[in-house]
Amino acid sequence: MKTNLAQVWQSSVPESKGLLRKARAFDHAMIGMALLDMDGRWIDVNTRFCQMLGYRRSSMLSRSYESLTFEDDLEISRSWMTRLRSGDIDSCEFEKRYRGSDGRIVWTQVHAVVVRPEPQEAPFIICQTLDISDQKTTRDALQESEALLRVAVDGADLGMWHWNIESGQFIFNERAHHLLGYQEGDVESRLRSIMGLVHPDDRKQLSELVIPHLKGQRPGLDQVLRFRRKDERYMWLLLRGQVTRRDGHGWALQVSGTIMDVSKWKELERRLTRMATVDELTGLLNRRSGMSALSLAIQSSERSREPMSLVLLDIDHFKYINDSLGHQVGDEVLKALGTFLKSNLRGGDHAVRLGGEEFAIILPGTDRRGAVAQAERLFNAIGQVADAVEGVHRMTVSMGVVTRREDELADSLLKRADALMYRAKSAGRNNIKTD
Ligand code: GH3
Ligand code: MG
Ligand code: MG
Repeated sequence: MKTNLAQVWQSSVPESKGLLRKARAFDHAMIGMALLDMDGRWIDVNTRFCQMLGYRRSSMLSRSYESLTFEDDLEISRSWMTRLRSGDIDSCEFEKRYRGSDGRIVWTQVHAVVVRPEPQEAPFIICQTLDISDQKTTRDALQESEALLRVAVDGADLGMWHWNIESGQFIFNERAHHLLGYQEGDVESRLRSIMGLVHPDDRKQLSELVIPHLKGQRPGLDQVLRFRRKDERYMWLLLRGQVTRRDGHGWALQVSGTIMDVSKWKELERRLTRMATVDELTGLLNRRSGMSALSLAIQSSERSREPMSLVLLDIDHFKYINDSLGHQVGDEVLKALGTFLKSNLRGGDHAVRLGGEEFAIILPGTDRRGAVAQAERLFNAIGQVADAVEGVHRMTVSMGVVTRREDELADSLLKRADALMYRAKSAGRNNIKTD
């Protein structure tokens, strides 16, 4: 004969008022309740339990406990049941998945207790059941995002830091220590110790960035700084972070962030900048940056009303050097000319390799007389270049010297210098023409 709730209660409380009260309490409990016999068959379930799974009570009771259990959890469910039945344990707690009416999975937390009313009465099991689907989803999402974060942090080789403003504690994690060549715990966890590692020239910039962020006037920190490694050398680190806790007044309480080794980027940046501005063979400015330098010199001359001059210089019969001694010797000559120009120029002057064996010398603040004097000095000493390269006995140059006229722009200045240089060529080379 099928037992029901009333009979169960009756067997334990043979008093009708108490019975009714208990039955109602059971029915309206906020927690899902299921009574099972020791063979795992429903005796009764309450309203909350039915709502959780989305069944009406009659429909629920017509299905078996096992048919509602998610397949993957059957094994564990059975094993708990076996242990309860054997008297090995009297209660247990576990998480299990039910299959809801619409096929969806309902995660539950179950607290199962064996009730033995009287020695001669059949024992039964009360399962208090909580719907933890929402927590489960949130917990899974959190775990997933934590795992993703780990992958990102480890993959990017990021050190982490955490600054508690109230206590003044500033913690570098293990990875952050390693980046700077330290063992974990080597760096004292104080702000002042960490600041001591920042390059003195970068400290001001850092505080100019941090303070407005603490006050909420600036978005997150994002700064490339030099930090001193354990071996005393400085390395470039990208420091990022943001306030992670504020008090009720908006005061920052905690800041957290990452550090990342960007030395390689910095080196690449330095090389790219150099490549973009400097001629690789001679070490002089390349054409593009030479043209910028010329424009700047013209603007400055315009503003200050001071003169400026330009010298164009082209190696004579350079093709012959290449053809007779080889291209490599030609390169050596160009290199030696670069060194010669650099070491014979004054501070504000610029030497430019315009291309091939053609060079420009920009002389800011220099009038015609000064420019001619400088060109002649170079011209007279040019023999040093041939002397510096083995196998080259003679190398001469032709030069054109111009001084900027009022309102004259770069194009016109270059054109005039070029014309003079060609006049020097046609006049037999190895000479200087001035305007
Ligand atoms: P001119 O006196 O009329 O200036 O004659 P030139 O032979 O100096 O001039 P030309 O323009 O006929 O030849 C320039 C040569 O410079 C041709 C080119 O192969 C060579 N050249 C250009 N760039 C380089 C370089 O980077 N290295 C070497 N070795 N030769 C170069
Ligand atoms: Mg030439
Ligand atoms: Mg030429």
